[in-house]
Amino acid sequence: MTDSCICVDTDDGEPVAILDQRVVRARKAYRCDECDGEIAVGEKYESIKLVCDGISRHKTCIPCLRIRESMFQCGWIFGEVWADIIESIRDTMTREEEAAEPDWRKYILPKSLWKYWRISDD
Ligand SMILES: [Zn+2]
Ligand SMILES: [Zn+2]
Repeated sequence: MTDSCICVDTDDGEPVAILDQRVVRARKAYRCDECDGEIAVGEKYESIKLVCDGISRHKTCIPCLRIRESMFQCGWIFGEVWADIIESIRDTMTREEEAAEPDWRKYILPKSLWKYWRISDD
């Protein structure tokens, strides 16, 4: 994050080397590693092959990819995109605002993440 940009702030993660990054069509059903939503057969998704403690693959659905591309131009942590968005919105809220709308995350999070939304409540 630089002074002039509007990116969501992220903690420093492990540096990763991206070996391959492309948008492909799903040949079988997958889950998005960001929102946990289904990537159905025939749908496009972003496939990234990266090195961080060995080689792994990361799948991102197109809605999450678009959000990541626009809000995390200076970097992101795989699997933490939504948690960081929630955290940054929360930083702007007062206690009173949170108390007035305790379910506020539901307006922001993809439905597939609603089941997790209380976990980061501390
Ligand atoms: Zn997703
Ligand atoms: Zn930025």
